[in-house]
Amino acid sequence: MKNFAYSRAETVEAAVGLIARQGNSKFLGGGTNLVDLMRENIEQPDALIDVTRVSDPNPAITELPDGGLSIAAAVKNSAVANHRLVRERYPLLSQAILFGASGQIRNMATTGGNLMQRTRCYYFYDEAANCNKRTPGSGCDAIGGFNRMHAILGASDQCIATHPSDMCVALAALDAIVHVQGAGGARSIPINDFHRLAGDTPHVETSLKADELITAIHLPPLPFAKHSRYRKVRDRASYAFALVSVAAALETESGAIRNVRIALGGVAHKPWRASIAEKAMAGAKPSRETFERAAAAELSNARGYGYNDFKIELAKRTMVSVLSELAEAGGVR
Ligand code: SF4
Repeated sequence: MKNFAYSRAETVEAAVGLIARQGNSKFLGGGTNLVDLMRENIEQPDALIDVTRVSDPNPAITELPDGGLSIAAAVKNSAVANHRLVRERYPLLSQAILFGASGQIRNMATTGGNLMQRTRCYYFYDEAANCNKRTPGSGCDAIGGFNRMHAILGASDQCIATHPSDMCVALAALDAIVHVQGAGGARSIPINDFHRLAGDTPHVETSLKADELITAIHLPPLPFAKHSRYRKVRDRASYAFALVSVAAALETESGAIRNVRIALGGVAHKPWRASIAEKAMAGAKPSRETFERAAAAELSNARGYGYNDFKIELAKRTMVSVLSELAEAGGVR
């Protein structure tokens, strides 16, 4: 690992000021994925700015005037998953976090850091492999290689990596808002605009500017989100990334679907909001046939790359299963 300068910031303003003055530098929060990447020489910052002691003007998890929730960026994943209001109002978010990583990692990982995780594509971590994300223009060994974990939706001919987060899939279904502070001021970014598809620039993964620090996530009020669920399909029962995951919330009224939210994980370079399926279900009868039709429509543009072809059918079946469970369990006005 190359030498780097280390400094600790006590306030958001100090952290942003420090990073604006340094060239190639990174914020360090929980740090697991960043530290892994530094050990592998994938990330080589000139400076690390430790934000674990930043005093937060809006600490922890607070209720917003509109009925939503604000989660400060430094709140640990375990604290979010176990918070009473998160469990009651947004069970899909609590479940998604508890399906991620291990208890030890969730106790250290922060909300902001979870958003900034980088892909676990094996070729990205292998310096002997060609990888456009690590070295733009070098090629992509996952295309034509062992791509069991890779994308089936929205991939490009430059990169077929998937986003590794579970939490972010639930946030995508909830239309969460990411609040950031930079040298140029504060701004808010809808979660579905925060992460990017790979396109021609797979090394650019988010819309966050280099000098911006995530300060909080806001969850909009969404009463029907209490009828929600997160399902993760993976190779082993814990400590594994999703092959496919589904975050969904469903509300029915008088035998018709009144509201539905669906996002998929493990299938794309970013958490994948299933807008086509949502439109296909609006006002329809909450039946298995409706769910199958919606899932087929969402996956109609999916493409497998060989080893991951099975994900297309798996994603459809998981969507149908989760939506059927929600329809049977309630969500009825
Ligand atoms: Fe690199 Fe993306 Fe290809 Fe993986 S899929 S090798 S991250 S370019």
